[in-house]
Amino acid sequence: MTGITGHTRVVAVIGDPVAHSRSPVIHNGWIADAGLDAVYVALRLTGADAAAHLAGLPDLGFIGANVTLPHKAAALASAAASTPAARAIGAANTLFLDDGVWTADNTDAAGLVAGLDLRAPDWREAGSATVVLGAGGAARAAVQGLHAAGAPSIRIVNRTLARAQAVSALCPGAAAFGWGDLAEALDGAGLVVNATSRGLSGGEPLDIDLAPTVPKSIVLDTVYTPLETAFLASARRQGRTALDGLDMLVGQAALSFQRWFGLAPDVEAGRARALETLR
Ligand code: NDP
Repeated sequence: MTGITGHTRVVAVIGDPVAHSRSPVIHNGWIADAGLDAVYVALRLTGADAAAHLAGLPDLGFIGANVTLPHKAAALASAAASTPAARAIGAANTLFLDDGVWTADNTDAAGLVAGLDLRAPDWREAGSATVVLGAGGAARAAVQGLHAAGAPSIRIVNRTLARAQAVSALCPGAAAFGWGDLAEALDGAGLVVNATSRGLSGGEPLDIDLAPTVPKSIVLDTVYTPLETAFLASARRQGRTALDGLDMLVGQAALSFQRWFGLAPDVEAGRARALETLR
């Protein structure tokens, strides 16, 4: 990259592993679009004391960072302030300076909702319930974001019931189900979100019978490698609207970009660039 000087503002995605991240392509594309003197790099953070390293980033001149696995909880702990979303989820994917204060946010939650609003704006009215599969970090973000955005009756389904119960505590009225009660959880659902890691390239595919959901239900897979998962292909075969995980990725990126630069980037351009890396 040319044009980098001592004045260039630096942002990073920090995780372990991190070399696979699509975030540099997305953010450097937007930086170029806006003609900013800035650069976005990927940094692998290994070893203990991640929170201390992340807390030191502003002293090194970083204006912000994205934080990915396994350091999202450390990112929250590293900050002097945090948003309600980050506190509710218990993890942060974005660090930024808010009036000079190192602040943690979680834009995964609102990013997922932004993608839904873009591709299926009537998602709230599609059915009488919302089903989130999984109870890990992505599921916590999905549940918090969907609840904050007014999703009807949230049901969390997870292989380990106790973890689903813990996530259900995030929002009043949410119900927890074990995988064996999936059909019951899907009854009347208008939106089904896969936030398990099942379906990732090389792993066990996810294929569920969507008959209990409403015929016009929307199915969203947070997994985006592969982009067209077996779960989405099956949903399409069952006549459902199928949405891939790339809009969530680009949605969270756009909200992070706004935190750092105060600009709303072009999400379709970001998606197109990320898509190139998946081909
Ligand atoms: P975690 O490891 O925290 O959680 C994994 C979840 O998947 C758990 O609920 C686990 O159940 C469940 N699970 C794993 N294997 C199986 C299986 N064989 N059958 C049923 N359930 C299973 O992962 P994350 O929450 O961090 O990530 C989950 C997914 O979300 C990832 O695949 C990632 O690609 C995606 N993601 C996408 C983002 C995007 O921007 N599109 C952003 C962040 C994540 P149990 O509790 O029983 O172990």
